Amino acid sequence: MKRGCLVAEKIVEVHDLVRTYGRRRALDGVSLTIERGAVLGLVGQNGAGKTTLIKHLLGLLRAEKGSVRVFGLDPVADPPGVLSKIGYLSEEGDLPLWMRVDELVRYSAAFYPGWDQQYADKLQKEFGLSSDSRLGTLSKGQRARAGLLVALAFRPELLLLDEPSSGLDPIVRRDILGAIIRTIADEGRTVLFSSHLLSEVEQVSDRVVMVQAGRVVLDDDLAHIKETHHRVDMVFGEPRTDAPAIDGAIAWEGGGKSWSALWLGETVQLEAAIAAMGGRIVHTSGVSLDDIFVAHASEGAR
Ligand code: ATP
Repeated sequence: MKRGCLVAEKIVEVHDLVRTYGRRRALDGVSLTIERGAVLGLVGQNGAGKTTLIKHLLGLLRAEKGSVRVFGLDPVADPPGVLSKIGYLSEEGDLPLWMRVDELVRYSAAFYPGWDQQYADKLQKEFGLSSDSRLGTLSKGQRARAGLLVALAFRPELLLLDEPSSGLDPIVRRDILGAIIRTIADEGRTVLFSSHLLSEVEQVSDRVVMVQAGRVVLDDDLAHIKETHHRVDMVFGEPRTDAPAIDGAIAWEGGGKSWSALWLGETVQLEAAIAAMGGRIVHTSGVSLDDIFVAHASEGAR
C-alpha cells in the first residue's frame, strides 16, 4: 500500500471475463482483483479455466467479453508495459531446450533492465544448476528450477506461477514454495499461483480463489475461509435415510442416526435447525482446504 493512501493498488483487475472455445465456455464471467502484496492461490479442478485466465493476464489471449487490466494496462495492447514486470513459470516450462543454463541466463538477462545477476548466481548455486548443462538434458525438476530462476532473477512485481509443482518431487516443490515465500518477503511483490496441491496453497496464500467450470465459486481470505467452514458431527434420535436439507451445509456424509456436515457459517444456526429435526451436535472441528475444495466442487457440479 502506498504511504498515505488508504486504498491498496490494484495490480490485477479482471471484470466479467468470458472466453469460449467452440461451444465450451472456458471462462464464464470471471471477475477478480489482486492488490499489491497479495499472494493469491488459484485453485480448481482440471479444465476449470485457471490457465485460460492466466493467459489473459499475460496478454496471450484477448478478452472476448469483459476486461483485463494488469498494472492498469491492457496486456494485449501493451505487452512490454505488462510483461516486463511479470515473472512467469508455466506447467510446461516453455524453455528453449537447446540452450545451456548459462546461455539461458544471459539471454533472459538481456530482456530485463532490472535483472539482478547476483540473485541469479545465488539461485543457480542454490538450485545446483551447472552453467554448461543443456536444458534438454536436465530432469523435469531441474528444468523447473531453471524456469524459476529466470522468473525470479529480475525481481518481478508480479509472479505468475501456473501449476508450478505439477509432477515434481517434494524437494523441488519445497524450492518453489520457498521462492514464493521469499518473493513475498520482497516488499510490494504480488504472487498468483495456481495449484492442485491445496496443502501448498494453504501454506503460502493469503487469499484463495476457486474456479469451477469457468466461474468463481469462492473468493476469500484464507483465514476467513478456515474460520467459516467447519465439520459438524451430529446424531439424530431416529435413523434417517437422507441427509437433512439445511441451507449452509455444503456437503454431507453419514447414514442412520450419525451424520456429518461441512458447514459454512455460524454453527448456532445449524444447531437450531438440527434440534428442530430431533438431533444434536456432538462434535465440531476445523476442515482442511482440501475438504473445503472437494465440497464446493461437488456442490458446484450439482
Ligand atoms: P488444468 O488444471 O487441467 O491445467 P485449467 O483449470 O488450467 O486445467 P484450462 O486449461 O484453462 O483449465 O481449460 C479450460 C477449458 O478450456 C477446458 O475445458 C479446456 O479443455 C478448454 N481449452 C483450453 N484451451 C483450449 C484450446 N486451445 N482449444 C480448445 N479448448 C481449450
